[in-house]
Amino acid sequence: SFEASIPAASRDLWQQFGVTEFQDKEAFQKEFIRHVETTLARSMYNCDDLAAYLAASQAIRDRLIVAWNKTQQKHTTKDQKRVYYLSLEFLMGRAMDNAMLNAGVKDITKTGVDDLGFKIEDLLEQEPDAALGNGGLGRLAACFVDSIASTNYPGWGYGLRYQYGIFKQRIVDGYQVESPDYWLAFSNPWEIPRYEIAIDVMFYGYTRKYTNDQGKTVSIWEGGEQVQAIAYDVPVPGYDTETTNNLRLWASKPTREFDFEKFNSGDYESSVRESQKAETISAVLYPNDNFYSGKELRLKQQYFWVAASLNDIVRRFKKTHRPWSDFSDQIAIQLNDTHPTIAIVELQRILVDMEGLEWDAAWEIVTSTFGYTNHTVLPEALEKWPVPLFGNLLPRHLEIIYNINLFFLQKVEKMFPKDRDMLARVSIIEESSPQQVRMAYLAIIGSHKVNGVAELHSDLIKTTIFKDFVAIYGTDKFMNVTNGITPRRWLHQANPKLSELIASKVGSYSFLKDLTLLKKVEPFAKDPEFIEKWADIKKFNKARLAALIKKNNGIDVSVDALFDVQVKRIHEYKRQQMNIFSVIHRYLTIKAMSAEEKKDVTPRVCIFGGKSAPGYYMAKTIIKLINSVSEVVNKDADIGDLLKVVFIADYNVSKAEIICPASDISQHISTAGTEASGTSNMKFVLNGGLILGTVDGANIEITREIGEENIFLFGHLAESVDDLRHQRRFNDVPINPDLQKVIDAIEGGMFGDKDIYGSLIYSVTGNRDYYLVSDDFQSYLDAQKLVDKDFKDKTTWVSRCITAVANMGFFSSDRAINEYAESIWNIEPVAK
Ligand code: PLP
Repeated sequence: SFEASIPAASRDLWQQFGVTEFQDKEAFQKEFIRHVETTLARSMYNCDDLAAYLAASQAIRDRLIVAWNKTQQKHTTKDQKRVYYLSLEFLMGRAMDNAMLNAGVKDITKTGVDDLGFKIEDLLEQEPDAALGNGGLGRLAACFVDSIASTNYPGWGYGLRYQYGIFKQRIVDGYQVESPDYWLAFSNPWEIPRYEIAIDVMFYGYTRKYTNDQGKTVSIWEGGEQVQAIAYDVPVPGYDTETTNNLRLWASKPTREFDFEKFNSGDYESSVRESQKAETISAVLYPNDNFYSGKELRLKQQYFWVAASLNDIVRRFKKTHRPWSDFSDQIAIQLNDTHPTIAIVELQRILVDMEGLEWDAAWEIVTSTFGYTNHTVLPEALEKWPVPLFGNLLPRHLEIIYNINLFFLQKVEKMFPKDRDMLARVSIIEESSPQQVRMAYLAIIGSHKVNGVAELHSDLIKTTIFKDFVAIYGTDKFMNVTNGITPRRWLHQANPKLSELIASKVGSYSFLKDLTLLKKVEPFAKDPEFIEKWADIKKFNKARLAALIKKNNGIDVSVDALFDVQVKRIHEYKRQQMNIFSVIHRYLTIKAMSAEEKKDVTPRVCIFGGKSAPGYYMAKTIIKLINSVSEVVNKDADIGDLLKVVFIADYNVSKAEIICPASDISQHISTAGTEASGTSNMKFVLNGGLILGTVDGANIEITREIGEENIFLFGHLAESVDDLRHQRRFNDVPINPDLQKVIDAIEGGMFGDKDIYGSLIYSVTGNRDYYLVSDDFQSYLDAQKLVDKDFKDKTTWVSRCITAVANMGFFSSDRAINEYAESIWNIEPVAK
């Protein structure tokens, strides 16, 4: 029952004058100039690169909007089930290149702007990254929306439109310095503001019970503060398909009524203060990766975003006039980590308090709608909210949580009679002081499926943090969907030359839609001509990175050296400290060599990059050490080109697109059992680099797919980690002697004031080495030696890289999305 708002008699005219997409270069150029002259009010006399970027973006965006309109009309009329992907982070990066590629207009726009006096590369550089995320989790959400559109599923993303994305990082005197990322400074052509889609969201207040007309006692939530959520839509074009989905981001604004009241009573200043407070809600992204910090504003962000999204979803559902029992046949909602868990409670509240459903009927709908993706087993990352804070901000939600918990514990009690410990262990409310709401437990109880993001991780959650829930629900509720990455951005866009070479053997670019077709290049792993072309492309990509390093760091690096890269958030569990310790070990070793011995050394450029959370002291110390080592090593004449150390500041998606294609080796060396999946590991291998890594996260499945002869694995396995920690705690385990030498060098002042590194050294010595740096150090050095040796045989090395790439088909995010669609969401692609 989809109704057009235009009377039947006028519709022909609408169709006759309907906007169509530009199809050729000339049509693009006409649109481009129209936007320069009208949208931007400029002319050929004052059109700089920024204006040209904005005009080109507007032209491409118009094209996306036409496709977006058609897609949304089709999805609405077809009335199929939709998925909504709720993620507090979408680390999208730049949009323009991806939009041109997916919409199939890359060539005409490139030559189009060229004729008009611009270079497409310069225009692309004008765009700021949409950096609305911290790292892997946010980038996963970005790959997922690309794949949902590219595989023609009807699906929307819902997130927050932060005014400030992840902070910008500079290095001053070796230390990380943060500055705000005001990415909206020059307007954002990729979003469509929808001021008319304004949803009231309430906080605080109190609950009141009353008896309704049917004699039923019901609770309502009243009073409190109100803000408005305004929708901003970002079109998400699928690759090589008309499907253009929507990413709806909410921004907070003061409500009109609320402003007006204060203003009227003469309290102008306070009314302005209140409205500024409202805008604060969506102002900044919390800069923590894999770390929970229980700030009230963060909970406010979460509820603001979830309440607006659910209101929108429910409103759309109600337009279909279906019974509530159809809700989960029409709608699947995926929770990206526990950040949106309050959605479970909000939907229950809408159904029971607002729509008058019985509790059990509502709960059935809720649990069949939601799926929950867990992203970590690290205890410091698990979300828990103090009950007093929670109840103050969301009093009705807390009541509903107590009810959910009561019914759940009654069920558990029946299954495990008299097991008080079990009840205490699985209760949503942790009996600490103050009590805490355990969000992961609420997410499990309110969802029909719970998934981890790589095989090992999905097994670990079943045997560790969620063990009791497996005993309660059985194993069927828990599953694995290994992460993936979009080959459009992470192969074709980041590495156009390699993509072209692969296409020459596959016969077309069809592998960008079905990545398993990469398998067709495997026979060429032994073809000398192909190997040579492949090696040339790697060299070209290394030169591109070398130019970036020269520009940003002023350091000259040789493209003939082995490029060894570790770029990711700085975290003790990711063990950049172990990497820099091994670099120091390498430095000491080379320094002690004779000229003859040095001839045998494989020259290396050790490249680091990544942001530390602003309040994470240890991570900041690691950054300082890397930069101090870089200072000493790079200007040591004894070393020359045998070793260079580089820290690339402000690692982000755009830099990742240059860095990933340029590695010979990338490091993914987390303590076994700590990295849920990792996705940059996939990106580096897909771009023809090998991995030096631990048996952790998706490294394990990468090994299975590409063959263990094509990866350098080392270190203790996840199953021995607990024992090793236990031994450390109760015995005097000696430190690895090579690590001790490194520590001696640091403590001897080789890299400046040793006191700076006191706590870092303390954290890896004695019985404190929680991440097992010392335990893994020897096998790490051994693996490094093997890398040095193997890199000397260039032909075999490249051949291994080709074989690895040929077997990376599994790691497409299209595959991951198909798995979610089939086993969790139960949705079908929309046919043409
Ligand atoms: N940060 C950025 C900017 C990325 O592009 C990625 C993934 O490509 C990540 C973080 C995640 O990296 P990792 O899987 O190594 O943690």
